[in-house]
This record gives sequence, structure tokens and C-alpha cells, in this order.
Amino acid sequence: MTAKVIDGKAFAAGVRAQVAEHVARLKEENGLQPGLAVVLVGEDPASKVYVKNKHASTIEVGMASFEHRLPAETSEADLLALIDRLNADPKVHGILVQLPLPGHLNSELVINRINPAKDVDGFHISNVGLLGTGQKSMVPCTPLGCLMMLRNHHGKLAGLEAVVVGRSNIVGKPMAQLLLGDSCTVTIAHSRTRDLAAVCRRADILVAAVGRPEMITGDMVKPGATVIDVGINRIERDGKGKLVGDVHYESAAAVAGAITPVPGGVGPMTIACLLANTLTACCRAHGLAEPEGLTA
Ligand code: NDP
Repeated sequence: MTAKVIDGKAFAAGVRAQVAEHVARLKEENGLQPGLAVVLVGEDPASKVYVKNKHASTIEVGMASFEHRLPAETSEADLLALIDRLNADPKVHGILVQLPLPGHLNSELVINRINPAKDVDGFHISNVGLLGTGQKSMVPCTPLGCLMMLRNHHGKLAGLEAVVVGRSNIVGKPMAQLLLGDSCTVTIAHSRTRDLAAVCRRADILVAAVGRPEMITGDMVKPGATVIDVGINRIERDGKGKLVGDVHYESAAAVAGAITPVPGGVGPMTIACLLANTLTACCRAHGLAEPEGLTA
């Protein structure tokens, strides 16, 4: 069997087009423009690239983009004061603080200062609690993107056996909550899991969010399973830099029913979902109907 390739790039383009259409309607019918503020502290090269891409994508769908680049030595008080201003600004519907923050800043304190209704990354403790109790929340972008692709591929997910490898707060745990919300039978595996291969082989849906290049191999995949590879790992191969996932693509694709490639799978969905979340935040702030199919 050769797996169907789930094309995240095409799917993300579709989501962005849907967002753009909704944004245009909001302008026309309600005189509103959703706005996203991104805060970058310091000079981390990867973060600078992410922030640049986020800015370009925000403009492309017709939203307002507010960039705040602060020096690495910014004090916690100054950063919190900026967040307070953004919380109070009616033109800003979404606030994202690019992580990681420089070591002298307390990320939890900073994230929890964001108004939960504007927390488009879904990392505020209130949103984590709302998601955990099955209530309406802002949902972290990467797992939301994975859920959208899974729903699109399977239709209903109820009753399926799902295994999530990784228990981070930004991917593994919210992913598991979302799958539970769609009535999957969910297992979360991690570095202390016994016989990981056997656990993975139970999965109709296998989500890998580990941060270890090509760790999940074909012998760990149930025939016909759907494999979602969240991993982004830069490795050297044959003297060249290469991007690979947490799944060994060739061996897994020979067994799986469907699989996301790296690059071009989960990655492009993350920014698309950030835009979707900003649109959702704007609609909620103004008591308008939420965009269909773009929320959990
Ligand atoms: P973390 O490092 O925060 O978490 C990794 C998880 O994997 C931990 O729970 C850890 O277990 C588990 N783990 C590590 N080694 C093993 C092992 N040998 N067997 C089983 N489990 C193991 O990573 P993130 O969740 O932040 O990211 C995961 C991957 O996803 C990375 O490659 C990252 O680059 C990528 N990523 C991609 C995004 C995208 O947009 N596509 C967005 C965010 C992340 P334990 O808790 O026991 O230590």
C-alpha cells in the first residue's frame, strides 16, 4: 500500500482563501477589519523569519498587522505594559507573543497577561482550561491545523483510536484534547512510555510531535492508519541541510493509509490557523457569527 499524501500546503491555501473571503465580508457588511499584533523580543533568527511570514500572511488575507519589535534587553514591566495597551486597543483582535522569550522574561507571566479573548495562540491558562473542559476557547494553531486536516480526511473521527506521541503544552496535550473532543479514544505517549512501537501500532490516527528526526518508523504504524507528522527537524544529509519530520516518511508511507509530508504538511496549516483564530476572535468580540469550519 502507498499512503495518500495529505497536502497541507494546498489545504492551508484553501483555509487562507476562506479567511480572506470572510474578512472581505466583514469589511463590507460590518465596517470591521480584524487585526493581529505580533510581539517579537530580541533577535532570534528563526523567530524573525516566523514573524516576517506571519506579517505577510496577515496582510495577504486583508487583515491589519501590527508588529512590535523590542530589543532583547526589554524589561518585563515594559513588555507587560505593551500587552496591556494591546489588550485595550479595539483595532487589535489577536495578540501573539513570539516564543521563546529571552531568559530574563517569564513566559508564563507574559502569556497570561494577554486578554484570553485575544490569545490567538491559545496558550493562556484560561484557554487551556476551557479546552480541557470542552468549552469554547481559543485553540493552539498547530493542533487545530492537524484536527482540520483529520476531519477533512476522515469526516467523523468518533470512535477512532488516536495516539499522540509527545505531551508538550503547545502541541501534544491540546492535540489530545481536541481528538477527545471529537470522541476519539486517545492515548498520549511520551519518553517514558513502555513499548512505544506497540502503543503506536494501535492507532488509527497517529500524531507525532516529538522533535526527534524520523523516530517513528513504518513498523510502528498500523496498516491503513492516518499519520500526522508535526515534527520540523533540520538535519545534515549527504553534506546538505534537509528538513525532516518526526516520522520516517518512506517506511511509514508504505504502510499508512494517509500521511502528511515534511515540509508541506502540518507546517503551512499553523499560520493559516493563526489567521483563522484572529478572524474568530474578531467575530466573537463583535458578537457576530463565527466562520464555519475554521474553529474546533
Ligand atoms: P517538546 O520538546 O516540547 O516535546 C516533545 C515531546 O516528545 C515530549 O513530551 C517528550 O516526552 C516526547 N519525547 C521525546 N523523546 C521521546 C521518545 N524517545 N519517545 C517518546 N516520546 C518522546 O516539543 P514540541 O511539542 O514543542 O514540538 C514537537 C515537534 O513539533 C518538534 O519537531 C517541533 O519542531 C515541531 N513543531 C512544529 C510546529 C509546526 O508548525 N509544524 C509547531 C510546533 C512544534 P517527555 O515529556 O517525557 O520528555
